[in-house]
Amino acid sequence: MTREAPVPNNESITLCGACGGACCRTRPGIEAPGRFLATPDPAGALRDLLASGLWVLDTHYGVPYDPGKGERGDPDRIILYPRPATRAEQAAESIFALPGAGECVFLRDDGCALSFADRPRACQALEPAADGECSSSWTRFDAAPAWLPHQEAVAAALDRLGRAYPFP
Ligand code: SF4
Ligand code: SF4
Repeated sequence: MTREAPVPNNESITLCGACGGACCRTRPGIEAPGRFLATPDPAGALRDLLASGLWVLDTHYGVPYDPGKGERGDPDRIILYPRPATRAEQAAESIFALPGAGECVFLRDDGCALSFADRPRACQALEPAADGECSSSWTRFDAAPAWLPHQEAVAAALDRLGRAYPFP
């Protein structure tokens, strides 16, 4: 399996520079599974990111669904997916998300330290808008079903770090 189709670079230095990174100061964007699945050892790639202290696993409660399409949700299912850590999470050396908003560890005075290609998919998918009403074509509601089939890889990454998957 390969990484998801690249998101066209929609960076706006003008809009995001003027804004100062409001999105990056509240909650870092979620990464899609493709980055890991494209490697020979997805669980190892995820383990390495978590071990860096710069990434954490965030928690999604319930499987998103569209009743209009006849889909059924599972409100009890818990899904873990990775995103860059906040500065507080990095300071706490946590590999799990902590409650509350926080600034992304990759945010610098001149913007994101990562190249556009290396940013999490949720960051790439954010479309800047002059009025601050920035939209996104890939959110946590897309991340949850994308990561649902790969929870075993998440559990394997945790196991290699000596940590247990925290949910039944
Ligand atoms: S995407 Fe929107 S919220 Fe984020 S830095 Fe750019 S203008 Fe600000
Ligand atoms: S990875 Fe970059 S674009 Fe994404 S939240 Fe962090 S600083 Fe912002």
